[in-house]
Amino acid sequence: MDFLRPATWAEALALKAEHPGARPIAGGTDVMVELNFDRSRPPALLDLTAIRELATWERDGDRIRIGAGLPYARIIDELGGALPGLAIASRTVGSPQIRNRGTVGGNLGSASPAGDAHPPLLASDASVEVESVRGSRVLPVVAFFLRPKVSALEPDELIRAVRVPRADGPQQFAKIGTRNAMVIAVCSFAVALRPSERRVGTGIGSAAPTPLRARDAEGFLAAELDWDGAGPLDDGVARRFGELVAAAANPIDDVRGTAGYRRHALSVMARRTLGWTWAEYRKGAAECA
Ligand SMILES: Cc1cc2nc3c(=O)[nH]c(=O)nc-3n(C[C@H](O)[C@H](O)[C@H](O)COP(=O)(O)OP(=O)(O)OC[C@H]3O[C@@H](n4cnc5c(N)ncnc54)[C@H](O)[C@@H]3O)c2cc1C
Repeated sequence: MDFLRPATWAEALALKAEHPGARPIAGGTDVMVELNFDRSRPPALLDLTAIRELATWERDGDRIRIGAGLPYARIIDELGGALPGLAIASRTVGSPQIRNRGTVGGNLGSASPAGDAHPPLLASDASVEVESVRGSRVLPVVAFFLRPKVSALEPDELIRAVRVPRADGPQQFAKIGTRNAMVIAVCSFAVALRPSERRVGTGIGSAAPTPLRARDAEGFLAAELDWDGAGPLDDGVARRFGELVAAAANPIDDVRGTAGYRRHALSVMARRTLGWTWAEYRKGAAECA
């Protein structure tokens, strides 16, 4: 197996064009597992870790642009204020070792329905910057996932960055696993309140062939929330939100859980995360009053 180690982004794109079968490797926390278990044997590895700009983030107007090679540990340490949903999800990924190596670019590259970065990226309306020697394009994250473990990346393309709007309201993420840490999600859910636009974002993980949004639940909740008065959350609204989130999922029975359990768990997580975010919103409103 060839090992390609470009020092610059331009060199990486040129190598990917020349060797479309080369497998990019960032933290290696998915790629090395595949190689170790002999699940795949790519003709070459394209190591992206020498490209410094990939492991950085920057402010870009009202968005944060996260390089594809930024590890979870830095998202947790440096972006908890601007992107709370993604930071909360990042804290649940693997172990400290995995969070030091694993990246959001790699999570997207694997395109697993269970990737923990995906629900908060969906809830925040993030987009993915991809590039090849032919040019670059920006895809809404919702259009990035095509099928289980298949993304919209062309063979000669690489992920350069993820653009995530800065939070303008409370965000939350919840995940159900068979234990507290080091687990693949049985299912997961993210919610983002966007008071400035009176909108709500959602993301569902591990409960359909791809990560997805619960659009009906978003529309319902945005219309029902008492944005101006910041009154208590109505139980019936919370329950209905949970039902609509569960209805948006398309889960299967597998070794980690049944479809029925996943739907039930999603409705519970949706109600809970809504309760937490709404309480935070009300606290903020009370402090401003
Ligand atoms: C013990 C363990 C626990 C884990 N726990 C979790 C967990 O709790 N939650 C979770 O979501 N995941 C978990 N994972 C999976 C993994 O850590 C994550 O998916 C992580 O985000 C992968 O990032 P990486 O940088 O290591 O990716 P890599 O393994 O380097 O790459 C992953 C995929 O992305 C592609 N890729 C990487 N960078 C690019 C790029 N710039 N452009 C195009 N393609 C690219 C690779 O070719 C590969 O297909 C776990 C893994 C292990 C081994």
